[in-house]
Amino acid sequence: MSLPTFRGSRAPAPDPVHRPPWTAESEWRKRPLPVELPNGGKALAGGLVVVAAHPEDPILGVGGLISRAVEAGSRVRVVTVTDGDASHRGSKLPGSVLAARRIREVDRAFATIVGNPGGVAPVEMLRLRVPDRAVAAHERDIVQRLIPLVAGFGLCAANWRSDGFEDHDSTGRAAEAACSETGVSLVEFPLRMWQWARPDDTRVPWGRAVRVDLTELQQARKERALSCLASQISPLVPGRDDRVPLPPEKLTYFRRSYEVLFR
Ligand SMILES: [Zn+2]
Repeated sequence: MSLPTFRGSRAPAPDPVHRPPWTAESEWRKRPLPVELPNGGKALAGGLVVVAAHPEDPILGVGGLISRAVEAGSRVRVVTVTDGDASHRGSKLPGSVLAARRIREVDRAFATIVGNPGGVAPVEMLRLRVPDRAVAAHERDIVQRLIPLVAGFGLCAANWRSDGFEDHDSTGRAAEAACSETGVSLVEFPLRMWQWARPDDTRVPWGRAVRVDLTELQQARKERALSCLASQISPLVPGRDDRVPLPPEKLTYFRRSYEVLFR
């Protein structure tokens, strides 16, 4: 796959507050998404580094791309900025316990997505352990920590800078700065955007969008990997009314046979 380096200007910020109803997956299906990425492996051959705000973000946004990189024998490194200890504010479960649970789930999800369920994924996992919901306050420091971690890779995939969720946006900005400094090609993956945007939304840089098609096997593995994320897709304590961060209507965006990146 050949991905030109592109660091376009930031898209206009979305509305500061996003509330349901989210854009239904059926709406997204009505309008095919742009430009299919041609097959090939140029950028991935140089290694893939993923920079994500939260432990699950890489699985959701670029799980198929990670799977493809591993299949191609490329080096893969995943840098998680926070451990995601604040996804259930108000829950009686301590943040540290929740974070440990999320990390375990994601470890299983990575092993599953690369076709080694129950084993270990050939993916180097690094955690920056910045406090969840506080990425913006640490952004400059994160850039400095990312520079040596992204250097030398063929491609960096990071949260989209205009995703409309502060931790995602800050992580994306920090990754962009680190890639600029090191000359690494950057692609950005949207997550929240699927909720607040519409298929004809002018706030979305559709001209920069590329579609990465998943093979049937990659899609099946991603589906199984998503089911590993129990703390995000089901109540923390069975029967309790804990908030479910990824209910079915949001999860559906990540069950597609393709992933969308901004280059
Ligand atoms: Zn996230």
